[in-house]
Amino acid sequence: MKIHEYQGKQILKQFGVNVPRGIPCLTVDEAVKAAEELGGPVWVVKAQIHAGGRGKGGGVKLARSIDEVRKLSSEILGMQLVTHQTGPEGQKVRRLLIEEGADIKKEYYIGIVTDRLTQKVCVMASSEGGMDIEEVAEKTPELIHKVFCDPAVGLTVAEAEEISRKIGLPEASIAKAVPLLQGLYKAYWDTDSSLAEINPLILEGNGNVKALDAKFNFDSNALFRHPEIVAMRDLDEEDPNEIEASRFDLAYIQLDGNIGCLVNGAGLAMATMDTIKLFGGEPANFLDVGGGATTEKVTEAFKIMLKNPNLKAILVNIFGGIMRCDVIAEGVIAACKAVSLSVPLVVRMKGTNEDLGKKMLADSGLPIISADSMAEAAEKVVAAAR
Ligand code: ADP
Ligand code: MG
Repeated sequence: MKIHEYQGKQILKQFGVNVPRGIPCLTVDEAVKAAEELGGPVWVVKAQIHAGGRGKGGGVKLARSIDEVRKLSSEILGMQLVTHQTGPEGQKVRRLLIEEGADIKKEYYIGIVTDRLTQKVCVMASSEGGMDIEEVAEKTPELIHKVFCDPAVGLTVAEAEEISRKIGLPEASIAKAVPLLQGLYKAYWDTDSSLAEINPLILEGNGNVKALDAKFNFDSNALFRHPEIVAMRDLDEEDPNEIEASRFDLAYIQLDGNIGCLVNGAGLAMATMDTIKLFGGEPANFLDVGGGATTEKVTEAFKIMLKNPNLKAILVNIFGGIMRCDVIAEGVIAACKAVSLSVPLVVRMKGTNEDLGKKMLADSGLPIISADSMAEAAEKVVAAAR
């Protein structure tokens, strides 16, 4: 789950990280009022969307007067902001953050991610922070320093000092950077984040360090223990199909291809997508209907897949373990009838009551293409999509 920058900064503040004063707003009038409340002489008008790269896309602008705050706010609010993370269609700006302008001497990068390979927490930092960090990572990766922290210990003072020195923070500011880095680490840890990032972290003219941006991704499997974070969810920023899917407890992720996949089990779903690609096709989605797929769930899954205008064919790949194939067949038949299926459907099922399930599909009178192996199923669905 993602949140907005202003919410990320609220979290950082709770963990003692220095952030600029700012007020989130929904209208131009609110923005003007916020600027007056903050006081001048310089404000920053910042689009709040769940994507980075806002500055380059024209969603972060400096204002030197209240009139300019009004003008920029009315330009940015409602705009379709396109960044390298939104895709070409962009994202509509519904919220702003009005912030006091900071005195930037230098911009740094600091990010924390869960590293599955080492089973540690990776703290990354660079002297080359700001709006071009992706390019730094690609062209000069040696400028990104990494420290792997033992999760049982956390980020130690020694490690925080090492990071601060590696990115070239002036010696006089290191005592300020250490608690900031430890605060960021604790925020990452205590909220069950998978990513916590400050870009840029700035050095101010007076030697202070401050977080000018804040990005958090939370591990959705841990959200049950963070109601305060769930309350920050902004459904306007999420894919409507994915929201619909989550209401039915379906794990659905929309992709760019044209072959819909309905699978039980995340591992089998991944393998199914790989097999489709192996035969030259492109999956239109990841979809795991879970272990207890009822007729209702399968029907909803079909409905959600069919909303995708790119969809050309569907592959149902089911392993009947605890789930019986005849129950799935019943669900598939009911779903096909309920949604009046308009694209070719390939079904492969294996396991408990497989023969009965196949017979039910064959007897249903529906134009279902059946397949026995994964390879056969993938080959048939790729051909059907063409
Ligand atoms: P994004 O990463 O989405 O582009 P940022 O919040 O990082 O958005 O803002 C982009 C740039 O705008 C920053 O790198 C910084 O140079 C400038 N900026 C952002 N907030 C402020 C602020 N409060 N004061 C001065 N400059 C700012
Ligand atoms: Mg940024």
